[in-house]
Amino acid sequence: MLFTPTRQAGLARLNHFLPNAGRAYEKSRNYDDPPADDGLRSNVSQLSPWLHAGVLSEAEVVDAVLANHSLKAAEKFVSEVFWRVYFKGYLEQRPSIWRAYCEDRDEAFDRLDSNSGLRTAYAEAVEGRTGIAAFDHWTNELTQTGYLHNHARMWFASIWIFTLKLDWQLGADFFLRHLVDGDAASNTLSWRWVGGLHTKGKTYLARADNIARYTENQPDGPLKAEGLASDAPALEEEPEHGRTPIEFPGEVEVDEPYALLLHDEAAHHSAISLPSKPSLIIGAARPTARSPRDLGNSAQEFAAQAVENGIDDAGAAFDCPSAQWSSNGELAGILDQAGIKHLVVPYLPTGWTRDALFDELSPLQESGHLHTIVSDLDRATWPYAKAGFFGVKKKIESILGELSIPSDEAQAA
Ligand SMILES: Cc1cc2nc3c(=O)[nH]c(=O)nc-3n(C[C@H](O)[C@H](O)[C@H](O)COP(=O)(O)OP(=O)(O)OC[C@H]3O[C@@H](n4cnc5c(N)ncnc54)[C@H](O)[C@@H]3O)c2cc1C
Repeated sequence: MLFTPTRQAGLARLNHFLPNAGRAYEKSRNYDDPPADDGLRSNVSQLSPWLHAGVLSEAEVVDAVLANHSLKAAEKFVSEVFWRVYFKGYLEQRPSIWRAYCEDRDEAFDRLDSNSGLRTAYAEAVEGRTGIAAFDHWTNELTQTGYLHNHARMWFASIWIFTLKLDWQLGADFFLRHLVDGDAASNTLSWRWVGGLHTKGKTYLARADNIARYTENQPDGPLKAEGLASDAPALEEEPEHGRTPIEFPGEVEVDEPYALLLHDEAAHHSAISLPSKPSLIIGAARPTARSPRDLGNSAQEFAAQAVENGIDDAGAAFDCPSAQWSSNGELAGILDQAGIKHLVVPYLPTGWTRDALFDELSPLQESGHLHTIVSDLDRATWPYAKAGFFGVKKKIESILGELSIPSDEAQAA
């Protein structure tokens, strides 16, 4: 496995990348360079699997980077991390985008079942047999490693939508099933961004010369992409997805014993600010809820093992028992058996984990026994994630100040 689902491995990756997070990142980040012998790259961090799983928090990554570089030097890297937080906040305020994506994806799969031409085109795309060398290269890389460089994701999505003319939801589903960092917000909204649905009417067109330029260092590069679409007319959709402002839950205070729930997007206690010591750790990983179709091994194993390792670490850190809530109908029994009424849950963002767990959590919410933790970074950022990223970008420095993350030149080593 390219990514090891432990906090130790995430921290090691962060420390290894820190020297490159400043101006070097800004200069080289767009290159889809080949990985080194250890399978990892040096021009991008590849921290996304640990960030998505909540094994590392965005705030601690930014904090570590700004302890080594000024905000000016690391502006690009810090703003990329804020893209992640922005997308989460945006989807949180427009959950209908996720619901529509799930419904439209299922309908698109039905269409494949009834249309052999579409079925063939889809099979060629997901098996890396389109004849577009660059695209087929990324398909193989994605299914084998569970990772794609950001630029490759953009080119891939653009070719999928505008050259292969396949439904964007099927491409987003393919990514979610294979990306170790597969994320409801970043993935869905990035595919929509490429297709012209996020920034209305603005699309991303993959061009062969641009692909060649940024893949020149690949062993089989520069990658060739012949026969690409020459224009990218924006996709259209009905209806508009209206915004509902976020109502954050209050700060968590629990006077009685409580269980801590670790899940696919919050798998480690060290990345969460807890109100007190938990009496029980419950782990619930639901990677297969990402899609009605089969998941790639890398994505499935990372998610399941991150939660498994997370409950072991938390059990040891708090010297308390742990339990796996692995299938539907078990939660009430686990809590009853431990004689615990309260459950503290790190925020379950819009997406499959919430969809898979919420039915069993809602009775606890109704009885006032469910307590949701929202990170300070999400609280400070999401209110600005109303429209375009610029709304967040211009607030980055003040948000860092609010979180007491030093961002001036003097603090950086
Ligand atoms: C079509 C498409 C689908 C995508 N799907 C996902 C997904 O499912 N999960 C996911 O985490 N990211 C997704 N991204 C965003 C981005 O490609 C990845 O976060 C990034 O490539 C991860 O690699 P890295 O950790 O080396 O990034 P770095 O360049 O090292 O960036 C540091 C961190 O910033 C965040 N980040 C960087 N770029 C972006 C971005 N454009 N949008 C949001 N966050 C970003 C990530 O958390 C990343 O780990 C997608 C982008 C596209 C174009």
